[in-house]
Amino acid sequence: MDVILHGPPGAGKGTQSRNICTQLGIVAISTGDLIRAEIKQGTELGKSIKRYSSLGKLVPDEVVMQILEKRLKQDDVSNGVLFDGFPRTANQAKMLKEWLAKRDRAVDAVFSLEITDEESMFRCTYRLSTEDGKENYHIYYHKLRVLARSETDKTPIFSSPNGARLVMRDDALPPKVQTRIDTYHEETEPMLEKLETNFNYKIFKVDGMSKPDAVKESINKIIAEHLR
Ligand code: AMP
Repeated sequence: MDVILHGPPGAGKGTQSRNICTQLGIVAISTGDLIRAEIKQGTELGKSIKRYSSLGKLVPDEVVMQILEKRLKQDDVSNGVLFDGFPRTANQAKMLKEWLAKRDRAVDAVFSLEITDEESMFRCTYRLSTEDGKENYHIYYHKLRVLARSETDKTPIFSSPNGARLVMRDDALPPKVQTRIDTYHEETEPMLEKLETNFNYKIFKVDGMSKPDAVKESINKIIAEHLR
């Protein structure tokens, strides 16, 4: 089974993708994570894309596809993939369709997590991650504690509930989050509509405003009713 998971910044894609993958026995591939890993490795490609993602703009299609194709060569994709944050443009949607068709596969469902722009801004600007980028926490929702203060400017350094040092993503400042929200409305939402009208994909809209467990329950209901 192959599914797409979309939603504005901070909609909870990372959290919900873990559950969907467990339910369906597939692997998650997040193009955002792949892009951040490429930047962190400091490759030439990573350097060339940093300016897009750190401003909250979309990375050019050919670069995203180059990075994704590398990941899709691994064996674990053969049972099915949850594409997190991909496709984001019509070109990417076409590429995905072709890649799946070559393997006699097709997109079985698209989950679209919906939250308001205000919630998106609140979640992203107060969100911190572990240094490896694998876990996210929200300063208020998780009631994070201050671990220390920066020696240079005394800004607080927060720790996760189990004591790990947390850092802020470089696209988490309000103007950058606003660009990511605007890009979602301008580029990704129209593309989602096309997935339904032109590609005939089944789109399941999920209210993402509630707590993660409630959102998970709504998703599990959709899986039980439509994807089993
Ligand atoms: P995300 O973690 O999904 O919010 O993605 C973080 C950033 O990575 C985005 O703001 C874009 O700059 C870039 N990005 C992630 N996925 C894509 C994609 N499919 N196409 C273009 N840029 C992407």
